[in-house]
Amino acid sequence: MLIAPSIEEGLALAQRVDPKYAPVWQGRPAEEQAALAWYFLPHTSSKAMLAPTRPRVIKWYCPFADQREFPSGHRYCINVYTGCAHKCEYCYAAGYEPQQPGCKKDFERLLRKDLEDLERFDVPPAPLHLSNSTDAFQPLEATIGQTLLALEQLARHRRRFTTVTVLTKNPLLAAQPLYVELLQRLAMLPANHTRQEHFARHSLPALRVEVSLAFWQEEARRIFDPSAPPVAERIEGIRRLRRAGVPVVLRIDPLFPRDPLRDKTWAHFGLPEPQMLDDLDRLLAFAAEVEVMHVVHSVAKLPRPRGGVTSEVMKKLLSGYRHLARSEKLTFRGGSWRLPDDIARSQIVEPFLALCRHHGLAAQFCKQNLIKTP
Ligand code: SF4
Repeated sequence: MLIAPSIEEGLALAQRVDPKYAPVWQGRPAEEQAALAWYFLPHTSSKAMLAPTRPRVIKWYCPFADQREFPSGHRYCINVYTGCAHKCEYCYAAGYEPQQPGCKKDFERLLRKDLEDLERFDVPPAPLHLSNSTDAFQPLEATIGQTLLALEQLARHRRRFTTVTVLTKNPLLAAQPLYVELLQRLAMLPANHTRQEHFARHSLPALRVEVSLAFWQEEARRIFDPSAPPVAERIEGIRRLRRAGVPVVLRIDPLFPRDPLRDKTWAHFGLPEPQMLDDLDRLLAFAAEVEVMHVVHSVAKLPRPRGGVTSEVMKKLLSGYRHLARSEKLTFRGGSWRLPDDIARSQIVEPFLALCRHHGLAAQFCKQNLIKTP
């Protein structure tokens, strides 16, 4: 049997944590600080300053984020696969993930080992997100079943997690009975969970499936999400999940600029208008009808792909963005081109939020949605 290390040794490790990550440790009881240090920090490193870089399947959520500026806090991420078959044009993960989707080597053994460590170190529960740089229900899942395995294991160790969030563009697969049964189990915290009372008192679901569906027109979906499930399938998948009582968040994400782009239209740049206001209105009417928890939005950033090969669609999008921004110019940050804030806010976000209000739907910006997930 593995023995839990001492609190004193854990605290000594915690004292060496890089100030960038320190807010996650500050103000916690000594046992929790020690547990977090044992789980996340490299035990044998001789470096004076430590970062949460131990090789893991259940990882530190935001390895690059300075917690003093972006307080994502103690939260985990599991990317069940590497790469993604959906090939969305605007995918930021394409900048660092392999181009061909694949399985993680030794996934099951490593997952079990991480879960064993969470138990052994008695790490307090935290939100878990599955999967941010891939799609947990992409076609591989139908034959390999690593998401099924992960959900089963998470259900066994439910006390170690608060909200479990599953992100997908393929809700029809998630709505199959074997997944629904697990999702329903994960949606309830067991009686011996330290946050059970809090979740019950505030009627917080402990699981959410976040479905990305940014388009209403199939023509736009084919161009921007070329290998992801069609709009009608995603709508049907969401309906089935909701009928089964699974909490769903609709991600109308990303949002694109609409016609006119100053004095031109998207057609001038060789693209259909990605999202007309009427499309957004229909998506939101559907979201209200099936009673999603809320909607999530962010303005499309145009990532520079790994290897620097820019697709034809991306070139056209960039031309449209440059034309719209004109003298204000695009900014390049975090590996992506972005519209100037004032244009993004006034032409894209504000009209969208007005529509959300019209449909009585709460809307959250994507980072805010993450931080607020308990
Ligand atoms: S589904 Fe997500 S991870 Fe997959 S290609 Fe699209 S944006 Fe990227």
